[in-house]
Order: sequence, then C-alpha cells, then structure tokens
Amino acid sequence: MALQTIRDSIVYNHGYFEGRTSSVTDFLWSLYGTAMSKATSVASIPLPMLSFLALPFFGSTSTTINLAFFWLVWTTFVWKYDPLEVEIYGTLAIRCLFFLLPSYLFLGIDALLPSLATSIKANGSKSLPLQNMTRSSLAKITAVATANTLMAVALQGAFEYILTEYLHFRSGLRVSTFVPPPWSIAKDVLRALAMRGLTHYAIHRYVLHASPSKSPIAKWHQGWAHAIQRPFSIVAAYDHPICYLLAQWIPLYLPAFLFRYHVLTWHILVALTSLEELFIYSGYAVLPSSILLSGMARRTDAHYETNGKGNFGHWGVLDWVFGTTCPGGADVVDDLKDEAEERNVRERLGDAKDNAEGLVGDAKERFGGESDQAGGKDAARNEDAAGGEAGGEADGEAAEAEPESPSQGGKRRSKRRAREASAAS
Ligand SMILES: [Zn+2]
Repeated sequence: MALQTIRDSIVYNHGYFEGRTSSVTDFLWSLYGTAMSKATSVASIPLPMLSFLALPFFGSTSTTINLAFFWLVWTTFVWKYDPLEVEIYGTLAIRCLFFLLPSYLFLGIDALLPSLATSIKANGSKSLPLQNMTRSSLAKITAVATANTLMAVALQGAFEYILTEYLHFRSGLRVSTFVPPPWSIAKDVLRALAMRGLTHYAIHRYVLHASPSKSPIAKWHQGWAHAIQRPFSIVAAYDHPICYLLAQWIPLYLPAFLFRYHVLTWHILVALTSLEELFIYSGYAVLPSSILLSGMARRTDAHYETNGKGNFGHWGVLDWVFGTTCPGGADVVDDLKDEAEERNVRERLGDAKDNAEGLVGDAKERFGGESDQAGGKDAARNEDAAGGEAGGEADGEAAEAEPESPSQGGKRRSKRRAREASAAS
C-alpha cells in the first residue's frame, strides 16, 4: 500500500513537473514568437532603407552595400521560416527556375519553332525531339523528368524530417543567419563538384552500365534513359527513378551532407549543377563558353548516340583520365586546346585593330597639325595622304593577322567536324 502511495506520488509529481515545464516552454516559445514577429515586422520597412542605415557600419563600397543588403534579406528569411522550409522551398525554387522552367522553354522552342531550333542544334533537325518520337512519348518523358526532379526534393525533405524529428540528429544541412564568406562558399562548391563528378562517373559507369543481363538497375537505365537517341534538356532528369536518384541526386547531396554545408552553399551548388544539366543535355551548339560547354554537350550527345559506349562523366575529365571518351570524339583536352587557340586568335585580332586605330589617330594628329600651318588645300591633300598611309599600315597590320585567323579557324572547325562526323558514324 505504501509502495502504491509512493508510486502515485511520483506519477503526480512527474505530471505536475511536466505540466509546469511545458507551460514554461510554451511561455518561452510565445516569447520567441513575439520577438520574431517584431523582428520580421522590421522587414516591412523598405530593405534598401535598412541597408542605407547600415552603411556607417559596413563602409561605403557597392560590394559591402550589396553584402549588407543580402545579409539583411537572408536574416529576415531565416527568421521568418522554419529551417526545413528554408532548405526545401529554396531547393525547389532553384530547381524550377534553373532547370525545369528553362527546359520547358527549350522544349517549346524545339516543338513550336523548329526552323529556329534546327539552326542552333549541333545535329540540326535530327536533334528535334518531335523528329524522333511521338507527342505522347514526349509528354511521358517530360512528366517522368518533372516527377523525378520533384521526388528528389521531397526525398531530401523527408530525410531531413526523419533525421531531426525522429532520430533527433542534427539537420543534414546547416541553416543559420550566418552568411559564409564568398571564398569559403567557392571552396565548398568546388569540393562538392569534384566529389559529385567522381561519384557520378563511378555509379554511371559501373552500376548503370554494368551488364543489363546481370543487373536490373543497368536494365532500367538501358530501357529508360537509353531509349532516347538524341537528348534535349529535360532528358537530364529522365531515367528510372532509382537510376535517377543513384546517378544524379546522391552524387550531388552526398558531399553537402557529409560536410554539413551551409544551406546557401547548397543552393548555389544546386543552381550551378541545374544550369550545367540544362546546357549539356540541350543539344544546342550555341552555348555560353562556346567550346568547353559545347564540348560537354557533344560528349553527352555521343553517350546517347552510342548507347553508352563511353563518356560517362559530365565534364569529360575522368573519361579522359580513364580512357573512356567515346571513340573518335573530341576529349576535354582537345576542347581546352581549341578554347586557348580561339582566345589567342581573338586577342591578336583585337591587338591588330587597336594598333591600326592608334596609327590612324597619330597620323591624323601629326598631319592635321602641319596642315593648320600650311593652309587649306595642302591640309586636305596631306590628310588624304596620311589617311592613306596610316590606313595602308593599319590594313597591313590587320592583314597580317587576318590571313591566319580564317585558316586557323577553318582548320580547327574542319578538324572538329571530322572528329564529330566520325564519332556519329
Ligand atoms: Zn548512360
């Protein structure tokens, strides 16, 4: 009986204590909520005004203004939303803005403006999606790629939720009002890109392109992704969902999770890789950084055209190191040489033009001065002569550079065309 009383007393006191502490925590949360609502109401003051007020503390250069402004926006954002929301909504917004929406736009151009698309596709009309498949197949590919992209974001959210709410671990990514310095973001992004490149290459080459008769995953990759002969942007996310998670999502999320990246670094990483996927799967010949990105795009094309005989990496560096570049295709070192050559020619042409303009200016100044003294008729004659001489010299300079450029450019282009033709055949 006495034992029962003691137990009841423990249970009562425990319950009472729990009730009290919960009211304390409730009070703390409500205090926190009030403080946060006050803090976020500050955001109703126009932000440029706030950054202006912050000027005396941050200096007056435009970079510091931008940084201070960004810090204020970021801090307000992090205060206002739950860390999981900051991570997941941010990732979702970036995937939509930098991958899904531009992919739909490219697809729209390919489908609705075929003559424009043909003129900018590396393989011309052969690369137009509707030349190679029916509208229903195209709709299915778009739906699966969209679902894969959204699934990866949802999976990341579910993983974070289980990690923090059920297992009570620290979150996978760091969400804080602290903004990492740009050099630390750059270092983390480069490290993640290197790790992503290695992991993607290994999984794509050894798991997705293992023998389809032995591995169901390899069979799925062949049946889904490699059912397409000529890729276009949205195809970057088209594969069996398991293959997509293995080859695209894990290589990207793993380094960020292992090193517990700041969520801002993660968002920048997602934006960069989304743009990379958008461009290298596009099949377009007109891309920013004309040769390197175009080279990556051509190698992606070749991976699909040869049904996965090589070119397993995104950038081509590992394919070059391990000798898995598609036979006959240009590798990353060829691209670097071509890029350097192109830059060199462009610089030389620019120098020649500057020299020519300088000579014309000098001559005009010199002979113009003399003509002032000599008088009207002579001046006109001298100026003509000077113009002719300077023009001649300038033309000569330009001519020295000119004959090289078309021949070099022509040689390079014909070399590239020959390589690509042999790769395609
Ligand atoms: Zn493949």
